[in-house]
Amino acid sequence: MSDKAIFLDRDDTLIEDPGYINDPEQVKLMDGVPEALIQLKNLGYKLVVVTNQSAVAHGIVTEKVLGDIHDRLKQLLVENNAFLDRIYYCPYHPEGVVPKYRKESNSRKPGPGMLLQAADEMDIDLGQSWCIGNSSRDIEAGLRAGCKTILIDMPPSRQKQLSSPVLPAGVSPDYRAVNIKEVVNIIKKHLRSSSEQEKKIQPTLTDETALTSEADVQVSDLVEPTKQINAQQPALETIEPETKPTKLKIQQSEQNIPTDKTEELLSGILVQLKNMQRAEMFGEFSVMRLLAGVVQIVVLFCLLVTVWFLMSPERQDNLVFIALGFAIIFQLMTLTFYIMQGKK
Ligand SMILES: [Mg+2]
Repeated sequence: MSDKAIFLDRDDTLIEDPGYINDPEQVKLMDGVPEALIQLKNLGYKLVVVTNQSAVAHGIVTEKVLGDIHDRLKQLLVENNAFLDRIYYCPYHPEGVVPKYRKESNSRKPGPGMLLQAADEMDIDLGQSWCIGNSSRDIEAGLRAGCKTILIDMPPSRQKQLSSPVLPAGVSPDYRAVNIKEVVNIIKKHLRSSSEQEKKIQPTLTDETALTSEADVQVSDLVEPTKQINAQQPALETIEPETKPTKLKIQQSEQNIPTDKTEELLSGILVQLKNMQRAEMFGEFSVMRLLAGVVQIVVLFCLLVTVWFLMSPERQDNLVFIALGFAIIFQLMTLTFYIMQGKK
């Protein structure tokens, strides 16, 4: 029986990307990567890195140094009890300066070559596998190989630096995530949802009422793994399994209603709010944020005390001003903590 795998992009997915990395000392794991890889491994997936390394073709790094960089990556992961099964890289680029590596290659993402090679060499079932990355090339390579795909959205600050959109028209990932922690969450929910759907099939066949009410769910799920690279549908969002049928029904009904610009604007705002909420949910724990929350509670307490002094029959203005003063001071502290957390 074939294995299933998670194909992972390297730069800005597993390690920070300062540009071209040409020294093992530059390798720095991104937040939450070892923990995420451990969880994905525990779900039964092989972990395979597939990375474009045109720096080799451009003469910036040799294959020997690239090997050292990947050894450093594996070492950092092992120190955190995480392990990769294999790393595939494509050193080619059509405009490279090193003749040996100057060529087009199907292995270079968005080509699916590395994924297909891994499937062949490691006996991987691509239909059960996922391709994860932060660029359209990762998504396109995964789609062309027949995998499910998750795009890790770049922070807005990075997106502004790009001259072209992250996702060109027609490239649509199955899911989007704010970071690798949410990737794990999406895959877990997908697996849970799939097993629940399998369980539902038997009761559905014997219960006509259930068959009618759940017909939309089954149709939606058949449509869900969007693999058509040229599909016109916008990227699917992360969908809670519990609410998926409802959301998909809404999407279906929306197809019959002409959408004007206001609706597009509102849905855009909704997506941004969801992303912000997810970023909060899967963000790193912050001492500053915790302090801000605690001090904010103290502010509310001071305001309550102020009101109590105001309502008191033996009202003393001095005490009211003191309590109000403390509330203002603590509120300023809260704002300071939030600002410091944002600049972390
Ligand atoms: Mg990348």
